[in-house]
Amino acid sequence: MLPSSPDASLDEFAVFGGSPQFLDALHVGRPNVGDRRRFIERIEQMLDNRWFSNGGPFVREFERRVSEVAGARHAIALCNATVGLEIVTRALGLSGEVIVPAFTFVATAHALQWQQITPVFCDIDPRTHLIDPARVESLITPRTTGVLGVHLWGAGCDVDALSEIARRRGLRLLFDASHAFGCTFQGRPIGSFGDAEVFSFHATKFVNSLEGGAIVTNDDELARKIRLMKNFGFESFDAVTYVGTNGKMTEAAAAMGITSIESMDDIIATNRRNHQRYARGLQGVPGIRVLPYDERERLNYQYVVLEVDPVESGLHRDQLQRVLWFERVLARRYFYPGVHRMEPYRSHFPHASLLLPQTERLCSRILSLPTGTAVDEASIDVVCALIRTAIGRAAALSQRLGHPATPLPGPPYDSTSSR
Ligand SMILES: *Cc1c(COP(=O)(O)O)cnc(C)c1O
Repeated sequence: MLPSSPDASLDEFAVFGGSPQFLDALHVGRPNVGDRRRFIERIEQMLDNRWFSNGGPFVREFERRVSEVAGARHAIALCNATVGLEIVTRALGLSGEVIVPAFTFVATAHALQWQQITPVFCDIDPRTHLIDPARVESLITPRTTGVLGVHLWGAGCDVDALSEIARRRGLRLLFDASHAFGCTFQGRPIGSFGDAEVFSFHATKFVNSLEGGAIVTNDDELARKIRLMKNFGFESFDAVTYVGTNGKMTEAAAAMGITSIESMDDIIATNRRNHQRYARGLQGVPGIRVLPYDERERLNYQYVVLEVDPVESGLHRDQLQRVLWFERVLARRYFYPGVHRMEPYRSHFPHASLLLPQTERLCSRILSLPTGTAVDEASIDVVCALIRTAIGRAAALSQRLGHPATPLPGPPYDSTSSR
């Protein structure tokens, strides 16, 4: 039992030696498996085909499916989204500086830096967590060649405002749509905006191809160039017309990707149900807010994002995370400490944090909670009760936990560990 009454001992919390609430850890980003039998059938088919890579039938089918969902003329399947971002920025000839949010997964910035393009960090709108178009313009310099927005949590950036700035200032506009497969912005499918958009189909994403990604675009010439670049620049058997890399998706990955797309509606239904259950279960807990989704859009609900207000709740986000981890609820601090505080960006821009007050604030407040098809409703109820109890006893907990910067237990509990 959880020590919810005000005079119960705090020793019941696992962080102080009590038994954890969960035998098996709850993870953020446990892969969705989809129809196992269909996947195995496709793998058998792939072996029979003896066609494992280089634009085989599964990759072509996957590309067709992706372009349908994304509402874009072209989809080019790739080994992952990071290579996709690298290829598309190169195909568009970006150089110098590109404006990008710091509240994102580090790959967004790395894909630029890897090509000696300087990521210039832009602050976010605190309400949506997305790049703030009002701040983009002041970051443009003579070296700026593009803007790379991130549709975080599957919610679309302010595409119209960004397009207007890009058009007026002669910049390229790209989107890291890693979180946003199957989502819409103002009713239009994400995938058709800017010069191009990039999806990730990494194992932890909503739809996965084990590892994988895709660039989508309506620009025929750009698509042609990307197809060459992801295959060493080969135009035909012996003709190389560009410097290229190897960004190809395998047939096995595409087989998983197609199988995953077939389960899309079921995964969305589960994610949405989970999100609603968390939102209801945490309603009214002081200082705790579950980031809402815009119900007018089609979304994938892949992330349950918690904002912890340390003053109102009485617990710092890191203290709450510590309590949860010991109960084997492996909530994650996405995207702590912020890309601008990771190397090499921290050394390049030692004062970036001064220009990113909203990013800084969120980086100290956000927790991503376990969801997806591997998390059932009963578990969500336990997590909600746990958070509610912890916040109810925040003062005593906070005092006993002390400074939150103590390391978490690790490596993460595996599913075989027992009480
Ligand atoms: C996952 C992710 C990436 C990287 O995708 P990979 O396919 O793993 O390379 C990039 N940006 C964001 C926002 C992501 O969440």
